[in-house]
Amino acid sequence: MIRIVVLGSTGSIGKSTLEVVRRHPGQFEIVGLSANRSADVLSSQVDEFHPEWAVIADSEHLPPASVQANARWEGGASAVVALARHPDADVVVNAVVGAAGLEPTLSALRAGKRLALANKESLVAGGNLVMQAASEGGGEIIPIDSEHSAILQCMEGTDRRSVRRIVLTASGGPFRGRSRSELANVTRGDALRHPTWAMGEKITVDSASLANKALEVIEAHVLYGLPYDAIDVVVHPQSIIHSFVEFVDGSVLAQLGFPTMELPILYALTYPERVADEALQTFDPVAAPSLTFEAVDHEAFPMFSLGVEAGRTGGTHPAVFNAANEVAVGAFVDGQIGFLEMAEVVEEVLGEVHRGNVEVVSDVIEADAVARNAATTIIERSVATGLASQREGYTGA
Ligand code: MG
Repeated sequence: MIRIVVLGSTGSIGKSTLEVVRRHPGQFEIVGLSANRSADVLSSQVDEFHPEWAVIADSEHLPPASVQANARWEGGASAVVALARHPDADVVVNAVVGAAGLEPTLSALRAGKRLALANKESLVAGGNLVMQAASEGGGEIIPIDSEHSAILQCMEGTDRRSVRRIVLTASGGPFRGRSRSELANVTRGDALRHPTWAMGEKITVDSASLANKALEVIEAHVLYGLPYDAIDVVVHPQSIIHSFVEFVDGSVLAQLGFPTMELPILYALTYPERVADEALQTFDPVAAPSLTFEAVDHEAFPMFSLGVEAGRTGGTHPAVFNAANEVAVGAFVDGQIGFLEMAEVVEEVLGEVHRGNVEVVSDVIEADAVARNAATTIIERSVATGLASQREGYTGA
């Protein structure tokens, strides 16, 4: 029996994880669940899976005492960190959204857990700290990201030194093929209409801007220790090939399948074993669409180059990129700024905040806070200017 803690169990990856667990009752047991605010959903998950421990990150959303009878309920970010080192857990699934996932990631790895990691932001923001926590605590990271799971599967059983290059695939998101000028007026609703993957709001916007692919390049660099020059990205709209690994002799392996996050989740839970799951759709090459590939359009999607460049710069810059992007995505979703302005905000923040070294967690937390403040100030100024020009336009008419 594999005992599992799911952090962020009410989000898209969290729910898919519970769906996988539901299908394998003799194999997995849930020992802890956490959510940010969705107490009602979390409570019904507790009723179904009977973990002993339930945590709400935002304590103001703790349910009433009558509901709390079904488990030991705790509130606050520190309770999430404590749950991540649950003494009974074999695997901790970190499906928290954003940089808030960093401390739970470190906590699980220091406690020697297997970390099934969907929260790529913690690897991006705290790269070397995360790898250090894993080696010191004896924990291991198995990615729940379709591309990185594909790479792991292709590398399985090979000498890592024989890998020459990896190629991450990108669906291209809902705006693939559009020029920069065609992206000026796209809305939140347009950005949330992803063609091949059903995911949470933040990652869906990140997929539309290609910020997600930049985060994934940094994630691959940290996880697999490859230099940035050995990590390429190709747009593959059908999302059938989840990534390629090229070896020194020129041979290339790829992992394929119809898009579903349940496969990378199951693989992360049972790695290196493979477990039968009849519910996962059988791959049929004849039924699959024709597979096509295109280069990334750097002009239309500047967020991609900004993120990869932040990765190359290293130090606190990946954390700054990530934090500025989170704030920009929030402002775009709230209708405060336009789609293209997200990259403008991030670029300005990266130009403004100096690059520091990452030696301790507080270096990351500080860089994150500075970047958030800088992004918020830029957005407030942009909103004020926008309102002013609207007023001027009105007067002029
Ligand atoms: Mg991915």
